[in-house]
Amino acid sequence: MQRTVAVLGGGVSGLAACYYLARSHQAPKVILLEGSSRLGGWIHSTRTEDGAVFEHGPRGIRPAGAVGKNTLLMVSELGLEADVLPVRGDHPASKNRYLYVGGSLHRLPSGISGLLRTVPPFTRPLVWSGLKDLMAPRGSEADESIHAFVGRRFGQQLADIVIDCLCRGVFAGDCRVLSIRSCFPVLFQAERTHRSVILGMALGGGKSLPVESPLIGRAQKERWSQWSLRSGMEALPEGLADFSKRRGVEIHRDASVKRLETTAAGGWQIALEDGVVEADHVISALPAKALAALLPSWAEPLSQELCAIPAVSVGVVNLQYKGVELPVTGFGHLVPSFEDSTLLGIVYDSVAFPEQDGSGGPAIRLTVMLGGAWFTPGLGDPDTISDATLVRRAQAAVKKQLGLSAEPSHTIVKVHKACIPQYTLGHWKHIEAITAYLDKKKLPLSLVGASYEGVSVNDCIFSARKAVAKLLGEPS
Ligand code: FAD
Repeated sequence: MQRTVAVLGGGVSGLAACYYLARSHQAPKVILLEGSSRLGGWIHSTRTEDGAVFEHGPRGIRPAGAVGKNTLLMVSELGLEADVLPVRGDHPASKNRYLYVGGSLHRLPSGISGLLRTVPPFTRPLVWSGLKDLMAPRGSEADESIHAFVGRRFGQQLADIVIDCLCRGVFAGDCRVLSIRSCFPVLFQAERTHRSVILGMALGGGKSLPVESPLIGRAQKERWSQWSLRSGMEALPEGLADFSKRRGVEIHRDASVKRLETTAAGGWQIALEDGVVEADHVISALPAKALAALLPSWAEPLSQELCAIPAVSVGVVNLQYKGVELPVTGFGHLVPSFEDSTLLGIVYDSVAFPEQDGSGGPAIRLTVMLGGAWFTPGLGDPDTISDATLVRRAQAAVKKQLGLSAEPSHTIVKVHKACIPQYTLGHWKHIEAITAYLDKKKLPLSLVGASYEGVSVNDCIFSARKAVAKLLGEPS
């Protein structure tokens, strides 16, 4: 009889798992169970009548590295190539990234001359940070905070300003508690193998994907820094769902999983609000804590490890302005925690993707990101905070940091609760304990998604690819 695989969670990780299962030569029967009424999880785009796009989750995907190439391959296979909006290497959104420090915007230095000069907010040329890394001895800790690692290798100023901002931009998190080993494994390994991060990055090569495609070739030739899709990032989960349905995957929305029990035959009984689904194998693409709440009581050791992976909440405010101009042109700016802890940064969406501005006359679109690891202490309870509070906070930041005091022509607010998992110090131990438990108990359960080995869309998709290959005994 054909094997049944149930995929829990219809975010990009669960949909990618369905896609990889469905395109396999030995595809099992696949059932996707998504608790809400829409697919895509945190990938969510609002498309207005005049064609403007507002992203409430991810807005750009990096093409670099094995995981970046893998997503581009998927995009081509889904037939979405014509919809790709690239940000080429020579575009201002690739070259110009800003920090808001000491009450003004500073462009991050780039190129050799930028590294050799003292550029504010730094008090000496950044080339010194590079020299420090080349000279510093190898560390010996099994893990370290990102802030401590960068401070030790590149100096305090880089850690306090650039890395503080970067971690707020990528993880909405605090670099003083996030793990270098789990958040930036490439940097951690570079030091391990070559003593210096710069040497390791230059000589180490990194993981490569031995597959090429015309789209990957174009991304490399034009040095894309990121890409999106014309009608918004949500076109990616939509494409995955269409592909999977065509290949026979059963997709159920409003199908919240309430409980998981193992059966005498060694499979799973999956309890929903209004029924039960049986499966030989489960691929969980749920956040770690959500899965922990569903497991049987005998799996308490596993639940405990899953519950030890925290996540932070982010307030996302999309603003559109008509008849105004930005004071600078670039991807956006980040704000270090010492400047304004709850204001993570502002993305200038119109600069990177003007194609998504819509036809309603000249307008700029901005996204203000608020909260993250500082949400509760700085803004209050994400469960009860009002939209008006977040809009006020966002507009005040746009006025102070970008000098725009006009009323926005369009505003959308979302509070994403527990949306970005935090790989805190020692995260790797939880991953090892989870893997060891699944192996020891021979549980027919695979874990994919942002909670484990990378939060980017690329990482999520790659985790699904690896899990499916392992399940089907195929090379990944
Ligand atoms: P999720 O999207 O969380 O999907 C999990 C799904 O499971 C959800 O649909 C949920 O409804 C469902 N579910 C939960 N419980 C149950 C249950 N009991 N039964 C059934 N279903 C259930 N990444 C980038 O690469 N680039 C970016 O620019 C970027 N920006 C981001 C901006 C924001 C504001 C956020 C929040 C994230 C961003 N990310 C970005 C990260 C990336 O978008 C996420 O890590 C990724 O989308 C997570 O996908 P996932 O499928 O693992 O999880």
